[in-house]
Amino acid sequence: MKKLTSSDSLVTIHHWKNLLESEGIACELRNEHLGSVMGEVPFVEVWPQLWVVNDLDFDRARQLLSDAAMSESPDEAWTCRHCGESNEGQFAACWNCTKPA
Ligand SMILES: [Zn+2]
Repeated sequence: MKKLTSSDSLVTIHHWKNLLESEGIACELRNEHLGSVMGEVPFVEVWPQLWVVNDLDFDRARQLLSDAAMSESPDEAWTCRHCGESNEGQFAACWNCTKPA
């Protein structure tokens, strides 16, 4: 069991989960319903997390997500509207604050 990624967007996490499951990779969501503890623990700790059940699938899962991110975003650099960082076009989420583009 390995943590693959996290996102503040449940929609994004579900999208990734569906993507991985369609490739035959078993995964689990964590923190899906922990919104109420927000404020007691560091913010990122309570974000929904996507875990890969079988460690052997981990590298492939990570590759699939990065491929998906690449095909879904333009190659132009973009500026994060949350923190103002500039990001390379292949990243679907800000490298600095991890918010989606
Ligand atoms: Zn940002």
